[in-house]
Amino acid sequence: MTHTLHLDPRQRAMLAEMGVRVWSPMTEAAVMQAHADEPHSFAAASELATQAIANAAGDEAAMRQTPAPVAVAKVEPSPILIQRPEGIDQMAWSALHSTVSGCQACTLCGSRKNTVFGVGAPVAEDQAPQVDWLIVGEAPGENEDLQGEPFVGQAGKLLDNMLAAMKLSRTGERTAEGGGVYIANVLKCRPPGNRNPKPEEVAQCLPYLERQVALLQPKIILAMGRFAVQALLRGTVPEVDGTPLGKLRGRVHQYQNVPVVVTYHPAYVLRNLPEKAKVWADLCLAMAHVQDDKPGTQG
Ligand code: URA
Repeated sequence: MTHTLHLDPRQRAMLAEMGVRVWSPMTEAAVMQAHADEPHSFAAASELATQAIANAAGDEAAMRQTPAPVAVAKVEPSPILIQRPEGIDQMAWSALHSTVSGCQACTLCGSRKNTVFGVGAPVAEDQAPQVDWLIVGEAPGENEDLQGEPFVGQAGKLLDNMLAAMKLSRTGERTAEGGGVYIANVLKCRPPGNRNPKPEEVAQCLPYLERQVALLQPKIILAMGRFAVQALLRGTVPEVDGTPLGKLRGRVHQYQNVPVVVTYHPAYVLRNLPEKAKVWADLCLAMAHVQDDKPGTQG
């Protein structure tokens, strides 16, 4: 199909009024010639020519045949998903860790840089760390994904300060006085752009946290933020998904027979500093519970 442009001054004025600038009325052949030297550009030249003609002459038929170019989004190849292995509920600590490292059970494996298993008191041989405290957050963010460690950004600094106020630290060993902390998340991989975890991602990842809890046997779990609270209490608190977090604070719940105290997520506290006092009250409740659990302090 050959098009030539014959625009009289009135048509040109009309096109100019519509914002169509026609300053070089090239024919399709001319446009193709202009691109002829460029290797692999035949299709592009042809499209450009058709588009120029359609735009300039208001050729609706050509416009319909040649959709306006759209920005092509970068399409990431979908990761190949592989089911979690059987027997997670029987795994020892190191096997669990390496299973998480290789996990491809949801699409987050395609965008993560590192899995984030957790951090805490030292691991002796294949034993789980000896800890009184398990702190559960939501999911790794950008820094955590890069470093492979939970809570290393601003929220993590606040968490470290909270631990220090309780005379604990993220890697300190349990002593005769107690202590020992492990920090883990519901999701072991970063959701892209730090979006909220999806239910199917939580469902795929939760067995890992379940096994961590079973092996750690902490005296208390501190569930920080909505996603941790919902994941841990869904089985025991009716309608937990629709219950504001504030209504779940102030009492001791249970997950796998381990006491759970609910508190706000440190990232939320950073945006709402007056809530710090409530978090401190939650930590006091948790500390009192751990204290009561010490041999010789009950009853
Ligand atoms: N927020 C979380 O919930 N977990 C992290 O590891 C970091 C930020």
